[in-house]
Amino acid sequence: MISPGSTIGIVGGGQLGRMLAVAAAQLGYKCHIFDPHEHPPAADVAAAFTRAAYDDRAALEKFGAEVDVATYEFENLPVDPLRSLGDKLNPGVKSLAVAQDRAVEKQFIEQCGATVAEWRSVDCLADVERAVAELGTPLVLKTRRYGYDGKGQAWIRDAQEAEAAWDAIGHEPAVAETGVSFAAEFSVIVARWADGRTTFWDSPDNVHRDGILHTSTVPSSDTFASQVAEARTAAAAIAKALGHVGVLTVEFFASADGPVVNEIAPRVHNSGHWTIEGAVTSQFEQHIRAICDLPPGSTELAAPSAQMENLIGDDIDRWESLLADPAAHLHLYGKGEARPGRKMGHVTRLTLR
Ligand code: AMP
Repeated sequence: MISPGSTIGIVGGGQLGRMLAVAAAQLGYKCHIFDPHEHPPAADVAAAFTRAAYDDRAALEKFGAEVDVATYEFENLPVDPLRSLGDKLNPGVKSLAVAQDRAVEKQFIEQCGATVAEWRSVDCLADVERAVAELGTPLVLKTRRYGYDGKGQAWIRDAQEAEAAWDAIGHEPAVAETGVSFAAEFSVIVARWADGRTTFWDSPDNVHRDGILHTSTVPSSDTFASQVAEARTAAAAIAKALGHVGVLTVEFFASADGPVVNEIAPRVHNSGHWTIEGAVTSQFEQHIRAICDLPPGSTELAAPSAQMENLIGDDIDRWESLLADPAAHLHLYGKGEARPGRKMGHVTRLTLR
């Protein structure tokens, strides 16, 4: 067990790191943030900050020597340099390596017995054309690496669009996957301990705008309720096969044939921000509990319902009017510039008993 008073290293200093550090501080830990930026949001609320590139091995080694346990809040990190953190790193490098590459990820998920959309690995236009011939349309091309919030993706609705889609993703190694028709998209957030214990939160209804999460609401409507048990079994199997310790997010499509995994994130997730006030134990606190091997907290709802709304770009200008609602829980991430599409904060509203 890593006892309160110890130091937790967090690689990545964005808002997820910030909320992890706040949860860790509440339990009496100190956090040390590792991030290449000058003023990462997490460093404002942490005891120590190392500013260095993610592939700076010497800096990572020094950081590793100064922390008792380490974690990451961002998945596009070079894997090899992180190996110097050894067993201190939870989750380990396997979760990161699998989640970083869509082809490796899909293969891994299938090996765990879960369902993904039919897919092919594609490295050239001929591969894309073969995938179209074999799988039909609609198909979506997704770069194997560095895609997020719908970036690095192009749809092929008709065989003639194959070349344009291949051009659109910049001729990068990619996967071609069948378009799934779904009634809803939902995520399962699981926390796993080293001894195999797992906890889950309610899966919220997630509404996206312009490819970015807009709101998460619990309890959810019943569009996917009948699929949650199977989805949790899949998420637990994936977490176990990864040897994952900490929080893991698995995103699903609720299709007519049951839950289909879209992708995994080896970390806390935007669709779980509602848990800070809406659940007895938040995803951030549970992650800290799992990586430090403290007992699990309850994941029950703390109110009859909760809704989280993301504040994107200049939504942040509404902060005063949001604060005027005495029951709204406003979270501002302390980011300097409100660029379009940038996650600046969120607000959670509970219905009270
Ligand atoms: P992703 O970055 O993989 O989460 O994809 C972004 C969004 O594109 C998803 O949230 C879905 O709304 C949509 N999408 C991605 N893949 C598929 C698919 N195979 N079938 C249908 N919709 C998809």
